[in-house]
Amino acid sequence: MAILDFKEIAEAHKATGLQDTFELFTRDFLSFMGYKVITDPDRGADGGVDLIVEERRTGVGGETNIKWLVSCKHKAFSGKSVSPIDDANIRDRVESNGCQGFIGFYSTLASTGLSTNLEGMKDKLEYQVFDKEKIEGQLLHSAKGLEIAERYFPVSLSEWRTENPQPAKIFVEKPSLKCKVCEKELLEQDDNGVITLWQRKRKDYEKEKEHFEYVFWTCRGRCDSVLAQAIRAKTNQLIDGWEDISDVMMPTIFIKWVMSIMNEQRSGVVYSDEAYESLKEFMLQVFPYVSRHLTAKETEHVKSLGMIPSYLGGLGYEG
Ligand SMILES: [Zn+2]
Repeated sequence: MAILDFKEIAEAHKATGLQDTFELFTRDFLSFMGYKVITDPDRGADGGVDLIVEERRTGVGGETNIKWLVSCKHKAFSGKSVSPIDDANIRDRVESNGCQGFIGFYSTLASTGLSTNLEGMKDKLEYQVFDKEKIEGQLLHSAKGLEIAERYFPVSLSEWRTENPQPAKIFVEKPSLKCKVCEKELLEQDDNGVITLWQRKRKDYEKEKEHFEYVFWTCRGRCDSVLAQAIRAKTNQLIDGWEDISDVMMPTIFIKWVMSIMNEQRSGVVYSDEAYESLKEFMLQVFPYVSRHLTAKETEHVKSLGMIPSYLGGLGYEG
C-alpha cells in the first residue's frame, strides 16, 4: 500500500508560486541518492530539461563522470502514467544537452509505451526511471530519506510514523535488550521475546507477599526454556511469570506496569536487589519505544483486552 501521497506536492505549471516544488523534490532526492546537481530547476521554458545531475563512477580505469538528463513529471493529480508523448525525443534531448543518461522522475508510473521506448534505446543510452514506488522505497529506508519525506510529505509521514513507531531519541545510547541466553538483540526482532519474573513459591497467599528474585528477558521458545531449566536445576523454590515484551512496549501497558510496580512498593511486595535493578534496566530500555501514540492495531488490541486502566479513563484494572 502506498504510504506517500504525492498530491501533497503542489501541481506543476500552475501559478501558485509553488510550481517548482516537484522539481525541488527531485533535486533533493537525487542528491540524497548521491548525484551532484549541475543545473538547478529553473522556471520557464525548459527545452525538455528539468535538471542535469552528475554521477561519479570509480572503476579500474579511473574515474568517469556520467551526466544524466532528468525529466520530472508530476502527474499525481490526474493519476495518469507518463506516456511517450509526455516524454518525447528523449535521445535528442540527452545528446543535445551533452548528457550520457536519462532519468525519468515520475510521481506516477511510466506507461507501457514509454517503458518500451526506453528499453529500445538501452544500447545507445543508459536510463533509469524513479517512479512513485521506487521513490517511496528509497525514502522510507533511511534516516536521511525520512528527513526529505518529512519535508515534502508531512501528512503522509506523520500517519506513517504513528503506524510504524521508531524508538524516540531520548538517551545517548540506542535502546538495547539482549537475550539472556543467546545474546541476540531483542528490540530489533519481529518477535521481541518475553520477560520472565521469578518469584519465591508461597504457601500462604494471604500472609506472604510476593518476593521476586530474578527478572530476565529472552527470545521466546528455546532460549526461554533453556533459562527456565537452568534456574530449576539451581532451585525448586521459584516459579516464573512472563509477559510478551511487545505487549510491555505498548504505551498503555507500559504505564500499567509502572503503576503496579509503584503500588507493589507500598503493599510490601519484595524485589531482590538484582531483580529490582533488572526491572529498572528493562523499563529504561523499553521507554524510548513507548513515548509515542498507539498504532491502530494496538488501539484495537488494548480495547479488546479491556486493558485501559481506570486511572486513564478506561474500564480495566479495577480492584
Ligand atoms: Zn535468545
